Amino acid sequence: MVHDSNCIFCKIIKEEIPSAKVYEDDHVLAFLDISQVTKGHTLVIPKNHHKDIFELPSLETSQLFSVVPKIAKGLKKAYQPIGLNMVNNNGEDAGQTVFHYHIHLIPRYGKGDGYG
Ligand code: 5GP
Ligand code: ZN
Repeated sequence: MVHDSNCIFCKIIKEEIPSAKVYEDDHVLAFLDISQVTKGHTLVIPKNHHKDIFELPSLETSQLFSVVPKIAKGLKKAYQPIGLNMVNNNGEDAGQTVFHYHIHLIPRYGKGDGYG
């Protein structure tokens, strides 16, 4: 595994800091965002450290996106949202604050649910 010792998400992968895991396999981890914009807000990350979409290799992109529908369906079952946004920020100017590639899965519950 390629890790960056200063990266908060690499620390989560190595279990040096705790997280509420939603899904895990050999290549991908999903866990609840510490700051829930809506109930069930989840981050999906590759286990290798890559900064953003521009640095994410094709194989890891496939590994990650191949499990996203399964994770989204799990969130639907657990939280019963009426919709879901999938968001990915790349670069500081695009709003990225943690520089380990991640996608946000944001369950939606209707107007006034806190997002959008
Ligand atoms: P970005 O702004 O880079 O797209 O999203 C980074 C996300 O990581 C934010 O939504 C933030 O709440 C989340 N985050 C930052 N630090 C931690 C942490 O230590 N644990 C968890 N679970 N989420 C974190
Ligand atoms: Zn990392």
